Parts: sequence; C-alpha cells; structure tokens
Amino acid sequence: NHIIVNDSIVPETEAHVSYNDRGYHFGDGIYEVIRIYEGSYFALDAHLDRLYASAEKLDMRIPYQKETLAARLNDYKNTEKIENGSVYVQFTRGAGARNHLYTREETPVLTGFALPDKPMQASQEKGVSVYVTPDIRWLRCDIKTINLLGNVLAKRKASDHDCAEAVLYRDEAVTEGSSSNLFLVNNETLYTHPANNLILNGITRQEIISIAKNMGIDVVEEPFPKEVLAHAEEAFITSTSIEITPVHTFKGDVVATLSVGPVTRKLQQALAEHIHTQTSA
Ligand code: PLP
Repeated sequence: NHIIVNDSIVPETEAHVSYNDRGYHFGDGIYEVIRIYEGSYFALDAHLDRLYASAEKLDMRIPYQKETLAARLNDYKNTEKIENGSVYVQFTRGAGARNHLYTREETPVLTGFALPDKPMQASQEKGVSVYVTPDIRWLRCDIKTINLLGNVLAKRKASDHDCAEAVLYRDEAVTEGSSSNLFLVNNETLYTHPANNLILNGITRQEIISIAKNMGIDVVEEPFPKEVLAHAEEAFITSTSIEITPVHTFKGDVVATLSVGPVTRKLQQALAEHIHTQTSA
C-alpha cells in the first residue's frame, strides 16, 4: 500500500510526518473523503472546491493548484489500482514548535491514503437506528476540519446505544449527523437544515437536493426542532460513504420508529443512476 505525502507517492512504511505537525498539536487541518466508483472519482471537482474553501476559511494556503492535486489523486488511484473505494486526503497547516499562534510561513503538509470500502448494502436496504443528542460542536461546522471531537464523542454515544449514527440538535434546530447530513420526508417534500455555519454542506446533500428538484420533489432548507423528527413520514442520512441510508428508529432525546418509504427508495435509485452516469463517461 502507498500513501501520498506532499509531492510523492511512497510505500506505507516510508511515509513519515513530524511530531511537530500542527495536526497533532491542534487538530489544525482540513480533509476530504472522495469516492471512486468503477475506476473514476465521483464529484472530484466539488470535493476539491470544498477543500480549497475550507483552507481559505482557515487562512491556510494550499501549495498546489487544484489541477495539480487532481492529477496527484489520479496518479494515486492508478498506483493503487482502485476500482471501487475511497481516498482520504488531508492538509495540516504544517510543522512548527508548538505554539497556538501560526505565522503564515508554515508549509501545509499533504497526506492521502485509500480507505477500504465498507459493506453498506444491508443498512441501505433495511435502514439504521440513530441517536438524537445535543450538538456540542463549535460554530464553524461548515469547515471540513480534522478537529472532530464533538463528532467523535457523538458517534461513540450513538454506538453505545446500538445506533449507527448520532443526529445532533442545537437549541431549536436539528443540524446534521456526526458524519452525515439528515433529511426528513413529509408530504412528498424534503426537509433539511440550511447550509450555513452550523452544518457541513455535504456533497451528497447537494447532489440529492438537485436530483430531488429535477424529479419535481420540493426541498425546504430550513431549521426544524427535534420534536419534528417524531412525526416524519420518512428520514434518511447521507454522505459520501453511506450514500442514502434510511433511518428506521430515533432513540435518545427523541423516540420514534418509521418505515423506509417510497421517496427514500426513489432517491436512492436516482442517486445510483446519477453516480453511474457521472463515473462511466
Ligand atoms: N456532515 C458531516 C459532519 C460530515 O462529516 C460529513 C461527511 O463526512 C457529511 C456531513 C457528509 O458530507 P459528504 O456528503 O460530502 O460526504
């Protein structure tokens, strides 16, 4: 197995980063997870745009043109001969003696590696339980940072209650999952939190909103309180890794069961077709 380290693609055993990397000290970095289907990256441009946007929001300067990074990711895919899988790519702000204050002289450090495909078919078919719990994260959830403690703790809590994912709420708004976006379906209409500073605007979320609109399904991007979860006809969570995964049970601060409905199924099928046409050019 190989790893991307800055300008090189090296065997795993030769990949080294400094103990002084700000990623270790402060979680000072950003990342993306990009899916490969049938030998092609899916939504590569959108992921790279979001990566560069995350860098900009954190006052980090990625030392490559987008095209250079895209080419390196393609080289990596070919080196590792990935037909179906995912690539994790991250930039930290770089290495320096531990100091909260960064100087803008640090050189961002790139690492990237393949993630194994997890089997998703059963949960996409049957649905999953999710654990509803307060959102304790910071106020810039729009940045895809490697600083993920609020997400990590929520995921553990969900798993401790036999749930596949945590669904987070802040005051009167259900925001998103710990590593996914949440949609509700009522009356043939999709409801999801607006893409502001309180959620990560998922690439899958954006694809689904556009697919739904094309199918004539209304999409309402407005905050709603957690009590609304109990009355949803359908619910599903979305991400690069889990695509569209139905929710059949809410536990924790909302308790409800629901069935996997026709709108979720239609969107799953439409997303699969969209991915297929986008990656089989
Ligand atoms: N929200 C959070 C907090 C995430 O970590 C993720 C992905 O990991 C998502 C949403 C979904 O984003 P995407 O669809 O781009 O994978």
